[in-house]
Amino acid sequence: MATGDGLLVRLRPVDRELTAAALEGLADAAARFGNGRIEVTARGSLQIRGLTSDSVEPFTEAVAALDMELAEGVPVETGPLAGLDPAEVADPRPVAAAIRRRIAASGLAARLGPKVSVVVDGGGALHLDAVPADIRLCAAAPGSWRIAVGVDEACATDPVDAAMRALGAAAGGGGKARNSAAAHRPPAEPVGSHPLRNGSFAVGLGLPFGQAEATMLRDLAGTARSLFRLAPARALLAVGIAGCEVPALVHKAGRLGFVVDPTDPRRTVAACPGCPACASGEIPARTLAREIAQKFTALLDGSITLHVSGCGKGCAHPRAAALAVVGVSGGCELRLDDRAVAVMPQQEAMLGLALLADVVARKRAARETVAGCLGRIGPAGVARLLQGHRHG
Ligand code: SF4
Repeated sequence: MATGDGLLVRLRPVDRELTAAALEGLADAAARFGNGRIEVTARGSLQIRGLTSDSVEPFTEAVAALDMELAEGVPVETGPLAGLDPAEVADPRPVAAAIRRRIAASGLAARLGPKVSVVVDGGGALHLDAVPADIRLCAAAPGSWRIAVGVDEACATDPVDAAMRALGAAAGGGGKARNSAAAHRPPAEPVGSHPLRNGSFAVGLGLPFGQAEATMLRDLAGTARSLFRLAPARALLAVGIAGCEVPALVHKAGRLGFVVDPTDPRRTVAACPGCPACASGEIPARTLAREIAQKFTALLDGSITLHVSGCGKGCAHPRAAALAVVGVSGGCELRLDDRAVAVMPQQEAMLGLALLADVVARKRAARETVAGCLGRIGPAGVARLLQGHRHG
């Protein structure tokens, strides 16, 4: 698809998996035929940016030569530790593969909307509760699955048949599937080390604001000659790392620029590329996000997500964030709990955030979270604060 920095290609490796050689090859191709910027999206897909109409074909040939199986058509997604996590209820990959085969054989994809997706969640630490889907299969017990379609939920012993029936119905339209288990599970955080069934580890590394330079990925693949899995929430897992090798890999990845600590403030700031990479961008969202994560840590205790969006479309965080900076014509709109509290030029908006960070640092009660403190101040209070600052 066309963007402000050229053509963008999105790739979905089957089961989220790619070898170190494939990751290296992909990084080389992105540097050679694109602008060298690679993204892992909130769903865990790969995006290569900055291609041109002339470079798409050689890029496609370079990718086709890699040892990497790519999924096409309706996304049928499994978790990043599928088949590896000792806490998983069931390996979702055979179910997902059977659904993909049935979709291909049925020709159903042509009748489905372009954004229809299926999640097959085997459970475990890195579940998929935060990944929106139209049809959601969750392993309830070995041999037993729950299927959620919109607000309806049922048990299914044949998850493939159940998913195909639901997909047939989805061809007529429907909402995103809710998941009643979501309320009971702690959020999935891929960054950090995760024990695997075979005694080795998966090391989760965050891409700062979802983006890495090709050189970072090439160097990572050269360091960890392992398998890699893409993870939702803009992360990558190096899989099968011996326990004794984990600290060295984390150290090296941190030096390369990856986020290696789940409490790193960058993990609580969501940002799209913004301008100039996206033609719709009114503000350089990722550049501002970097500045915010560096300077305004008083707002980033992990209790809220701060969303910096190049425009009102909100690609990086489709749900409303507790605090948002949104590019609008001529500047930024600051939003608290999805309510606009001020519109101001970019420079002023950053000063406004600095003021808010200062107020939160001073007003936060002992053990109070930033979310609690902002809730107490409220949208009207924040609006007054920013107005007073502008006119003061
Ligand atoms: S939110 Fe707007 S600026 Fe950001 S990527 Fe989406 S369309 Fe582009």
